[in-house]
Amino acid sequence: MQHLVSPVGIVRSCFKEKFAIPRQPHLAPAARGVLELLPPFNQGEAVQGLEQVSHVWLLFLFHQALEDKPRLKVRPPRLGGNQSVGVFSTRATHRPNGIGQSVVRLDKVEPGRLHLSGIDLLDGTPVLDIKPYVPYADCVSDAHNAMADAAPQLIPVEWHGDALSSAHQHAQRLNEPLVELIEQCLAQDPRPAYQQPEPERRYGARFWDLDVHWHYPELGRIRVLDVQMASRD
Ligand code: SAM
Repeated sequence: MQHLVSPVGIVRSCFKEKFAIPRQPHLAPAARGVLELLPPFNQGEAVQGLEQVSHVWLLFLFHQALEDKPRLKVRPPRLGGNQSVGVFSTRATHRPNGIGQSVVRLDKVEPGRLHLSGIDLLDGTPVLDIKPYVPYADCVSDAHNAMADAAPQLIPVEWHGDALSSAHQHAQRLNEPLVELIEQCLAQDPRPAYQQPEPERRYGARFWDLDVHWHYPELGRIRVLDVQMASRD
């Protein structure tokens, strides 16, 4: 059986590229975005009642990881990228039907727009459905997962030169918790586990309209080098 689905909305996110997005929601509470609802769901009626809800489930398409040929096994970054496991035992983006799911905080409800935080979604992500989080049913107190038993270990983030003051200025301009966003995302060490970070190697990612660069003065430490307006490309 085949069934066509179409998005109910599109996420406008702080994350403009996949690199440095946390692996799951909540890991960066300062990661914010707006879910813009598409017709006919952009009317107040469709979101009526949602103001009583603190968190929502988003079902979405990994639109930048869609593939024609289904994979049976994947190599999750969490396992260092060198161990392959069954696709259904992971939250890998390359998966049948390309469907992702995240529980995110619902900060504000407007007709046609849901303000979200703690997101792990790329800008432009098509959302297929929205459901309220139901604590008594969705929070499983005795759940366990031996493959992913704890959030990634955090590493300290430091700032070089005027990178921090630049981040503060852009935070004011954007009216966004930018310093927190950068620190929360980089503390999770976005670098693929197999890459040995030479101190002179610069890494970069785009948050909002900014390019952020960092390096690893030594393994286990991150230093933000600069925060600059992104070039238009
Ligand atoms: N919480 C979701 C889940 O469990 O289905 C996503 C988990 S997945 C491991 C998280 C990663 O998906 C992020 O680090 C980001 O790189 C990637 N991602 C987010 N939005 C995406 C999109 N629209 N297309 C492709 N990859 C995306």
